[in-house]
Amino acid sequence: MTAVTTRKPQTAAPAPAKCPVCKGSGEVSVTVRVGRKRRTVGAQTGMCLTCLGSGEATD
Ligand SMILES: [Zn+2]
Repeated sequence: MTAVTTRKPQTAAPAPAKCPVCKGSGEVSVTVRVGRKRRTVGAQTGMCLTCLGSGEATD
């Protein structure tokens, strides 16, 4: 039995490697701390500093 595969037409540029830190999303969760005791109040989404928000792995 032959598996039916849908092939996407290849464009000129190959898919860039995804950033391992944000996994291609370009955003990472940043823990937010406040006060002298650095109490953790939650997490917010921030720009990934590894790929600078592009989501692509950089060399
Ligand atoms: Zn990243």
